[in-house]
Amino acid sequence: MSPIGHSLAGATIYLVYTTLRKKQPRITMLIPVILLSNLPDLDLVPALWEGFPRANNFHQGFTHTFVFCLILTFIISVGQWVRAGKWDRNIMAAAFFLPAIHIFADALTLSDPYYGVMLLYPFSSETFLLPPIFLSISRDSLRDLFSLSNFRSTVHEVLIFLPFLTWLLYLTYNRMVPAGSKERHHE
Ligand SMILES: [Zn+2]
Repeated sequence: MSPIGHSLAGATIYLVYTTLRKKQPRITMLIPVILLSNLPDLDLVPALWEGFPRANNFHQGFTHTFVFCLILTFIISVGQWVRAGKWDRNIMAAAFFLPAIHIFADALTLSDPYYGVMLLYPFSSETFLLPPIFLSISRDSLRDLFSLSNFRSTVHEVLIFLPFLTWLLYLTYNRMVPAGSKERHHE
């Protein structure tokens, strides 16, 4: 999945959370949400010095595992505890679930050659690849990143998330603006 798809997945999860908790979404929260949603792809950083396609050898390794999500949750939670002097369950949940959903989305992405995600590594090297929903993203060269096929895959991701995001934003708008004030607005 592309970084845009992962960011939209994170934004969708954040809006599901604010809708269920009847909270007002904050635009500034999108920054940590998008960062956490893309964090597992940190393993593409070697592309800076290794270049593509060699960098793909490091991709979907340890940062795409259940253990990585747990370590990340521990580091972020302790950092937050040191800063604020108390645990924050919302931050703990975000630190675990946003990268976990990234990994799940990658497992749902058409992959050629076969990657899959080693969800249980280092306990097992078995790779998991679920029936694909999202189209493949090619990373064989820098030029490939901006190819028409990657653009098509990204548009496909946007079209999948758009109905959910629109519906969640509609629910948020209806919750935030009381019915009476909407009628007054139309007068
Ligand atoms: Zn990934």
